[in-house]
Amino acid sequence: MSTAVPDRFARVALDVPIAHVGATLFDYSVAPELAAAVAAGSWVVVPWGRGRRVGLVVELAERSGIDPSRVRPVLDLLADAPVLPPSWFELVHFAADYYHRGLGEVAMPAIPRLLRTPPAPRARGSAFARARGRFAPAAREGPASVPPLLNGAQRDALDALLAADGFAVFLLHGITGSGKTEVYLHWLHAVLARDATRQVLLLVPEIALTPQLAAQVAARFPDHSVAVLHSDLADGDRAAHWLAAVEGRARVVIGTRLAVLAPLPALAAIVVDEEHDASYKQQEGVRYSARDLAIVAASQRGLPIALGSATPSLESWFAARRGRYRLLALPERVGGARLPALERIDLRGRKLRCELAPESIEAIGEALARGEQALVFINRRGYAPVLACENCGWLSRCSECSAYRVLHRLGTARAGAHAVASSGPSRYRLVCHHCGAEQPVPRACPDCGNVDLKALGRGTQRLEEGLAELFPGRRIARLDRDVARTRGAAQRVIDAAHAGEVDILVGTQMLAKGHDFRRLTLVVAVDSDGGLFSSDFRAPERMFATLMQVAGRAGRDTSPSRVIVQTRFPDHPLFGFLARHDYAGFADGQLAERLEVGLPPYRFQALLRAEAPALAEALAFLAQARQAGEALQAAAQPQGLARAEADALGDRSILLLDPVPMSMSRLAGRERAQLLVESTSRRPLHRFLDDWLPALRAIGTSVRWQLDVDPIEI
Ligand code: ADP
Ligand code: ZN
Ligand code: ZN
Repeated sequence: MSTAVPDRFARVALDVPIAHVGATLFDYSVAPELAAAVAAGSWVVVPWGRGRRVGLVVELAERSGIDPSRVRPVLDLLADAPVLPPSWFELVHFAADYYHRGLGEVAMPAIPRLLRTPPAPRARGSAFARARGRFAPAAREGPASVPPLLNGAQRDALDALLAADGFAVFLLHGITGSGKTEVYLHWLHAVLARDATRQVLLLVPEIALTPQLAAQVAARFPDHSVAVLHSDLADGDRAAHWLAAVEGRARVVIGTRLAVLAPLPALAAIVVDEEHDASYKQQEGVRYSARDLAIVAASQRGLPIALGSATPSLESWFAARRGRYRLLALPERVGGARLPALERIDLRGRKLRCELAPESIEAIGEALARGEQALVFINRRGYAPVLACENCGWLSRCSECSAYRVLHRLGTARAGAHAVASSGPSRYRLVCHHCGAEQPVPRACPDCGNVDLKALGRGTQRLEEGLAELFPGRRIARLDRDVARTRGAAQRVIDAAHAGEVDILVGTQMLAKGHDFRRLTLVVAVDSDGGLFSSDFRAPERMFATLMQVAGRAGRDTSPSRVIVQTRFPDHPLFGFLARHDYAGFADGQLAERLEVGLPPYRFQALLRAEAPALAEALAFLAQARQAGEALQAAAQPQGLARAEADALGDRSILLLDPVPMSMSRLAGRERAQLLVESTSRRPLHRFLDDWLPALRAIGTSVRWQLDVDPIEI
């Protein structure tokens, strides 16, 4: 064995959290026999602890800062892996910097698991070869479809998109049913037609419905293969589609948020559909916003990007108002369909049946009598939100979370067929929606032994049951996340509704997205008040968007349609804007409020979250973190200026708020707290975070912590 010091080092990105390590790349030596083949961008197998990992070589170096005796060698090279384009590394670098994470933490999870698993020592064939062989582009449904002729507003929007040269962000604000999808499809078609190697990326929020969209898109692009990327794909399919996209074999890529990190070498245009949707923000690991990264990618690569929504996020709306994004408006529905009329029903002092006011019940009956469909919307899944003992006040609290366990009915009772009348408690379970813990329903109150436990309130299942009693013989179908858990089930409900096999649709906001039900003329929003007085400043924005989207399901045809909103606060201004279909008025009003109190998009925020077995520990860590931050701040102040004076002069641009328990402080047995950091501009905030992170690591705590840049839930 030669003991010569290796003269080449590979700096490798690995999926290792940097929160506590501090390093973002790891040095390995490259043996002479590998040296010729290993380059920046190579996929390598390296030792990590006692195991092996796949990593990406980011750069080669002559020297390493690490003690040579501790540097371990690159074990192998994955020779038939694709070369990842520099544009992708650029995006990943940006994301790692911006979200203050390691390069590998961003890069590696973006690669399908099968392709980043070290090959078994004597594996036959490579995962890449298998993935190449397996790729079957999204199949179209039926024959190639002929695009409709665009109307004037669609044409204008398309022309603006087509005229884009280089980087530009467009905000396509079109009311529900105004034909946004057609505008994107025409645009992407034209972009692909200009050059035979180009690729386009279409980001969508919801996985449950991507197959349908993929089929629709495939029918419109019969000459191009369409790849689909979302987290619900089988591992083999995900690897196959990803590799086809990376190798340019797929020209159209449709995917959920993770698709923004797919390396697309010939990308020429990006669309982010329903850009306001919260699912674009990853809520674990690296908490990136796929919408924001899509804009960064477009900017880095000099491409046009279109964000579309009937209810844009306030961030995007603000950027459009400021002229940073170009606003394209589709103010009318396609084919002259009218927007539904919105009525508010004051629930105060009313007697409800199955959560429905008499007017709502009557309206459903009328719609059904005319052979039309009704949609009943409630944003709570399960049977009932809580089980209670009326004798002693026991409630079905989750032992692990500060939340109630929700009563769920088991099995998939056929919609409307048989009401669940004489069923024992064993047909139900208590489930925590936050930690997933489940338990059987107790036969008697655990505290006092009372056997008569009551289900309080209603979720989708109980509403479905109640509607079956109110409208016997009618066909009722439910759509929520529980239904969608069975692969293909969401699609079956949607298809049945389209085929006219459903009279009443009951569901959560899963129903709000993009479906076009021709015979639907009535929408009833059962309980709309959730977002009006929440502690989260984004709650009204979300509530408005959801109601507007749900309401937008009605009246796609030319027959008149109604939306009924049941509320205890009928005079709340939000409902006024909703009734006038006035998104702009609502959004401008929200922006004015946020300006006044200093909230995003006028401020930039980062959230330090901490979790520990005891709340006091989490809070103590955050208090130390805050102190460390203030020390950095003080050091950065101009000499001789007392802090109070500096504050008065307004030149202290970072604000560290008090550590507080999170609004749901206990989750899965751990207590959680947070510390909000704010600044009026982005750059000083990020400079501060750069300095703060090493100080946080130096605290050396057993508390688990992470940073969330641009948090969307506070
Ligand atoms: P949005 O996404 O804005 O809610 P869609 O793009 O889904 O609206 O369009 C609504 C419906 O109108 C779809 O069935 C679509 O095929 C149809 N449509 C869109 N544009 C046209 C058009 N120019 N002519 C005829 N039908 C159209
Ligand atoms: Zn009791
Ligand atoms: Zn729980």
